[in-house]
Amino acid sequence: MTTPDRTPLPCDLVITARAAFLLDDAGTIVSDVGVAIAGDRIAAIGPRAEIEAAWEPARRLGSARHLLMPGLVNTHNHTPLMIVRGMVEDLSFAPAYTPGIPQGDALSFEEAHALARLGVYELLRFGSTTIVDFYRHPEALARAAEEAGLRAFVGGRVMDADNAALARGEWRADASRGRATLAEAMDVVERRRAPGSLVTPILGPHAPDTCSPDLLREVAGIAAAKDLILHTHLHQSPMEVDVVLARDGMRPVELMEEVGLLGPRLVAGHCIHMTDGDIARFGRSGSHVAHVPVGNAAHGSVAPILAHEAAGAGITLATDTKSGDMFEAMRMALAATRIRGGGFVKSAADVLAWATRGGAAALGLAEEIGQIAVGRKADLLLLDASAPNLAPLVDGPGLLVHSASGAVVDTVVVDGRVLVEGGRPTLFDGDEVIATAEAVARSLWRRHGHAPRIA
Ligand SMILES: [Zn+2]
Repeated sequence: MTTPDRTPLPCDLVITARAAFLLDDAGTIVSDVGVAIAGDRIAAIGPRAEIEAAWEPARRLGSARHLLMPGLVNTHNHTPLMIVRGMVEDLSFAPAYTPGIPQGDALSFEEAHALARLGVYELLRFGSTTIVDFYRHPEALARAAEEAGLRAFVGGRVMDADNAALARGEWRADASRGRATLAEAMDVVERRRAPGSLVTPILGPHAPDTCSPDLLREVAGIAAAKDLILHTHLHQSPMEVDVVLARDGMRPVELMEEVGLLGPRLVAGHCIHMTDGDIARFGRSGSHVAHVPVGNAAHGSVAPILAHEAAGAGITLATDTKSGDMFEAMRMALAATRIRGGGFVKSAADVLAWATRGGAAALGLAEEIGQIAVGRKADLLLLDASAPNLAPLVDGPGLLVHSASGAVVDTVVVDGRVLVEGGRPTLFDGDEVIATAEAVARSLWRRHGHAPRIA
């Protein structure tokens, strides 16, 4: 620590808080803490008085009524799917398989952008500092992320299935759709490959039952050649397993292995309907699960996460653009382990690690984000500890997981930049984003024969 008589060093930001959860290996909690940030990185962490004496910041944030923690890494989203929020959750397990829903191909670029802005706003406002986002119009997603300032891994939704057939549980190829969606995905890969950018392109084949084996093979080859992170849905429904078995004579995870998609660069959403053999195959490959406990529970499913972890898979958490609240996802992830018979082997600290370091590792950022440490990126959250659900403050991360919510996120810093302050976004007008997305959503639903019941 710096000696008190030294001239204070200039820095960009000093954040103080009643306590900081560093989420390091030791689970360190520092009370009455100060963190100095220079540029995009954490320069020092220590007792508040020492940090305040040692650093002369351009700006100060935080107070004794705040708690500091690392930003959350939310690994599976489709931000334009804000369009279906509150509309389809009681109908089916996923919009892509539900006929008559205004999504995907029904959206123009502008509509996708307006909805993605709302999705990104919610994720950021509730504490996700890094997101994985993939859908049609990936450039609209990239633009929305860039405008909000968060860290985003963005890809196009590549698929060559005829969706109408798929909704009946049948596979029929639509080659022109495959070519169009791959071209759209590659466009964002070429356009967004800028070193140092917070937006990183990824490749997102939609799922084993919505992509032909040839298309999956082509995507795997491109990802290997261009060193891209891969994202997909895997073993999301019994229907997916049945369609792939009928079409290819193997289970989805076997197909993924055969086409070369399994491995450390793959983050796969859901991974629910798997046998012990499927779980072993997936884990052996070093692939990562994007666990979506709230979305899965909403259609009656619970992924076997403890078995995945034991088999060697990386575990990450996601909200899948339902409610974008990672605190809710952490709470449900813990409940999910117990519903699957895991007893009390997992704790709040474990699911906090999945929501931070697990995601960081899956995205190749294990040394950069996911914990508060000197030299790491300044991706941080200040929580409003005057909220009644953050009292009484006595001990440990249990309070964060079992009682907090995205609503207590007061300040969000990404890459050293303050993106949310006092619950309000700093780079855009949140009210305008909501109003624009709502107008788009209402007109889309109208076009699909659903007159709004709320004036
Ligand atoms: Zn999904």
